[in-house]
Amino acid sequence: MRPRHLVKPSKKLTFLLLSRTDRPVRRFKISKRALVGVPAAVAAAAAGSAIWQAGIQAHLQVKIAELDEQLAKKQEQYIEMENRKDATIGSLQTEIITLSEQSQKLQQEMDAIFALQDELKAMAEEEGVDWPELPGETDSNPKGQPVTISSVGGSARPDSPAIPRVNIAAAGGLHTPATNDHMNALIAETKTELTQTAVHLEELAEQMEASRKALETKIHRLRTTPSIWPASSRRITSGFGIRRDPFTGRASFHAGLDIDGSQKDPIYAAADGTVETVASDAQRGNYIILNHGNGIKTVYMHLYSFSVAKGDQVMKGDRIGRMGTTGRSTGTHLHYEVRRNGEPVNPMAYLR
Ligand SMILES: [Zn+2]
Repeated sequence: MRPRHLVKPSKKLTFLLLSRTDRPVRRFKISKRALVGVPAAVAAAAAGSAIWQAGIQAHLQVKIAELDEQLAKKQEQYIEMENRKDATIGSLQTEIITLSEQSQKLQQEMDAIFALQDELKAMAEEEGVDWPELPGETDSNPKGQPVTISSVGGSARPDSPAIPRVNIAAAGGLHTPATNDHMNALIAETKTELTQTAVHLEELAEQMEASRKALETKIHRLRTTPSIWPASSRRITSGFGIRRDPFTGRASFHAGLDIDGSQKDPIYAAADGTVETVASDAQRGNYIILNHGNGIKTVYMHLYSFSVAKGDQVMKGDRIGRMGTTGRSTGTHLHYEVRRNGEPVNPMAYLR
């Protein structure tokens, strides 16, 4: 049996803290449980830290993976963009080459038109048309020197030197990609060609306008010249000039042509003009005077009937009346006169 006074063993440990001898001793009591708990807490803290670190690491790994993915995507986009850029450059180059080819074709067509114009000029001059020289000044000719077609540089004229051309597509054998320098040269050439073509086009338009006016003048002159026969028949029974008067037998001046024919044969206007007179008298019978301008008039006498009235506009070849034998006439015929500035002239000089 244990004695009662025996002290129960304490659950606490006592620590004595001794410092310098002149200071009192300090005493701490710590429970044994606490003494065991501290390392456990430290261990737990360490374990927690490890878990936390692992968490961060995992988080970072996720982040890195995400960034990796983004980077890959960006790279893909970049490559795609590069490809697209290449495709765009390629298509632009194709367009430039096409444009350049079109420009060349345009110039060839211009050459053909100029050649045609020259041909027309030669033909017209042969027919007595006063073909105009090219109008003197154009915007492209600020010095005011007369522009002849060949004086303008460029290749739109067969006789002008052609522009040296960078030929990208040709030069068989080795094919290397066109450089920027190639393309820039081609663009510059095409620009120059197009500018020249525009200048030539302007010239051509002026030239053609002048030609049109010259032709119009010529056509008007032809249309107002009494060059066609005024009757179907071309049998002349009495010519222009001195003759024996059929009524008196004496020499007299015959101011026109007597053209044979049948009663009511159509009578035609010998040229474009205006009906100036439709009248009758004892000498001329039924007669018509046409005014063709430029001092030229034609007269038709001894008509059976009229098909026009005073003031009418007539065209060359229009029927103006019918043949007869009215007035001082010995039989059915047309007395036809051409007057220039009031004076009768030989109609044969005009008739074709
Ligand atoms: Zn006569």
